[in-house]
Amino acid sequence: MQTYPKSQHQLSREQFSPASRAIIQQLSDHGYEAYVVGGAIRDLLLGKKPKDFDVVTSATPEQIKAVFRRRCRLIGRRFRLAHVYIDRDLIEVATFRSSSGNDAAASGGDRLIRNGQIIRDNVYGSIDQDAVRRDFTANALYFDPAGETILDFVNGYEDINKRLLSLIGEPAERFREDPVRMLRAVRFAVKLDLQLDAPCAAAIAPNAHCLANVAPARLFDELIKIFHSGYAESAFELMQKHGLFAQLFPHTAQAIAERPEYETLYRTAFANTDERIAASKPVTPVFLFAVLLWPRAEQLFCQHLQNGLPEFDAMNLAATTVFEEQRDSIFVPRVIQAGIRHIWTLQLRFMRNRGKRVFSTLAHPRFRAAYDFLLLRQITQPELAELTSWWTEIQEVPPEKKREMIFGSAEKGKRRRRRRKKPADS
Ligand code: ATP
Ligand code: MG
Repeated sequence: MQTYPKSQHQLSREQFSPASRAIIQQLSDHGYEAYVVGGAIRDLLLGKKPKDFDVVTSATPEQIKAVFRRRCRLIGRRFRLAHVYIDRDLIEVATFRSSSGNDAAASGGDRLIRNGQIIRDNVYGSIDQDAVRRDFTANALYFDPAGETILDFVNGYEDINKRLLSLIGEPAERFREDPVRMLRAVRFAVKLDLQLDAPCAAAIAPNAHCLANVAPARLFDELIKIFHSGYAESAFELMQKHGLFAQLFPHTAQAIAERPEYETLYRTAFANTDERIAASKPVTPVFLFAVLLWPRAEQLFCQHLQNGLPEFDAMNLAATTVFEEQRDSIFVPRVIQAGIRHIWTLQLRFMRNRGKRVFSTLAHPRFRAAYDFLLLRQITQPELAELTSWWTEIQEVPPEKKREMIFGSAEKGKRRRRRRKKPADS
């Protein structure tokens, strides 16, 4: 183990949230060891603002509960930990864990591994055991606010200084026991501008298929984290490079392979997302997944049209099938599905830019997202250019001009008469 005293690093206790320091103080008053661990130390050493301050301790969840009582709630089954509330802050307090199977048997702990994959991880251990069961060396540093020292069991401090992301232990094994680590590698690399070290990088493609074993809801959450990290375009590149994108979005990857315009479409979509985040504008998984799942939807839509279905039915059926297919790989929550369906069916409404339906299209809650989506589709379908500029213009012109664009100035009278006659004819 390496200990870095205050004189050897640039961190100070004031950089850590008061709540995390108070919790650590209280735990150590009760005779337990306690530290800030993981992401916060990594981010501070890299000069970034930490998202949160996680605490780890030698106290078991029940002992943590006994210290903080009403301010503490125990949560999680797969990974049991304590939520401790101090003032308005919530701090996650976990217990040192061991990953050794022998310890699990010896301590009667609760660790379940199925086909090499961790299902439950609740065997407690010592701090050095806790360090080595973490994912990356950069994520396994401990900070003691009282002494202002950094504890390092895995050479994480040097890796951070070299801006390297290295897995602790044997990469293939660590990726198999939790395949989400491959996506975490991508996210940390792009977000923190770290290089994947060679063994870690080399182990991704051969193990990418293991992502099929991950709980579909967890995969959805992790992908949102990646694509809404502010670095989606680089993440997309890195995921493609290491075979993760094709594993997760096979139809989309195939469309990209067949037509390079799709690559441009996705790059543009991700670059736009990154720009929005940089400008603190809202982003939504609805738009993101509408774009990511589009090639498959488009394919099914065309098939249904050829089989003679009316276009709205064809699109709705395509959407239903896409969501069914996703259920066992990346689970898209129902509310998000509904939004995606709207974005896709609005594409059909855009094809009709005459008549009063245009007003309801413009007023649709998903209009803006659907219009942005139309702009993107233009990249793969240049024939949409004229229609797209029409929808751009209609949003910008004053009301009288809008009516003229929608009904046509000369046409207006004729159309009305024709409509009125209809019922009389039939
Ligand atoms: P951020 O919160 O900025 O995304 P983080 O490093 O804090 O980054 P968390 O997901 O909050 O990430 O996890 C906290 C810590 O728990 C990590 O730093 C790491 O040490 C450990 N950890 C999280 N997920 C895993 C995993 N899948 N395998 C092993 N260790 C993990
Ligand atoms: Mg965190």
